[in-house]
Amino acid sequence: MIVGDHPVTEPKGNPFRVPSVVPPIAGESLLGILLRHVERNSLWSVKPLIDRMSAGARTTDKIPFDTKAVSAVADMLSLNAADAFAAAHVEPEGSYHLVGKRVSTRFLATTHMSFCPACLEEAAFHRAVWNLSVVPLCVRHRCLIRSSCPRCEAPVGWFRARLLECPCGHDLRSAPHVTVDTGLGLARHVDRSLRLASPDGTALTVADEIGIEGFLDMVYVIGWRMVGKAAPRQPSRFALRNPREILAVMDEGWAACNDLPGSFVSALTIIRDHVRATRGPQENVRDAFGSIGNWINERYHGPWGKLLHQIYDDHAVVLAGLERQSFGARRYKRRSRVGR
Ligand SMILES: [Zn+2]
Ligand SMILES: [Zn+2]
Repeated sequence: MIVGDHPVTEPKGNPFRVPSVVPPIAGESLLGILLRHVERNSLWSVKPLIDRMSAGARTTDKIPFDTKAVSAVADMLSLNAADAFAAAHVEPEGSYHLVGKRVSTRFLATTHMSFCPACLEEAAFHRAVWNLSVVPLCVRHRCLIRSSCPRCEAPVGWFRARLLECPCGHDLRSAPHVTVDTGLGLARHVDRSLRLASPDGTALTVADEIGIEGFLDMVYVIGWRMVGKAAPRQPSRFALRNPREILAVMDEGWAACNDLPGSFVSALTIIRDHVRATRGPQENVRDAFGSIGNWINERYHGPWGKLLHQIYDDHAVVLAGLERQSFGARRYKRRSRVGR
């Protein structure tokens, strides 16, 4: 009979719960809540907590996107399940969100702790909106959201004992205030959209209709078109490493759609004119709009894909008809789809 050295298993239905709990704060991120529990219970990092979770993802940055992990965190911290899901980026039924608004997970970064030093100084908790890596600007303080330590310059991860301290011991609140002017209009629009209550179904414009999810997606793809570069496949990874550049690109996209809430049509016309100004007259619609057509095709089956597709198609056909009167609109449309 073997006695003694065997793994300790938690009895079923009696999962591990942290001894001392702290209430969540409105707008706080799930990983931020975990880290405050690390601090409260004098642990060295979130790792021992993650190791004792009863189910779900064990990789820190995946936890906010995993329904089982979010439930397990809620159990462990004796947290109301609704509060845990609100702080995470996933709903119990599996759709993704940022502070309750649908947002593409491609734009959310949780690998490191992004933060505004001035906000942390005012109130010591991690805001979920800082995970929106493609708009790294604090509207309140007009400063760049950062994700690295000002002293050791290492990315600030989640394996730390204190929310406000880098493992090197530096106080994150003391990071220099980096004022930015680029992207303020965009950041304000995003901030407002995230705060607004759910639309009542009386959308007046394309921007209203496609929501913040579609809006960010549109600004992202149009921004890269405007700067004449291919859009990175992993926006959040790019954004974490290049906060200033992503802000400049998003600002270009925002400027092209500047009359939003207005029309996608005006954005398309601006892009066409921009391409002409930088590259000369374009042979066909496909050249003038570049990747925009592909982007819309990829989203055709999404919640707002058909609407954009219709507008793009109509606009491209009308422009083509006006510009090349010798061609029938339908014929031109067919030619432009076939490509060069
Ligand atoms: Zn701030
Ligand atoms: Zn450091």
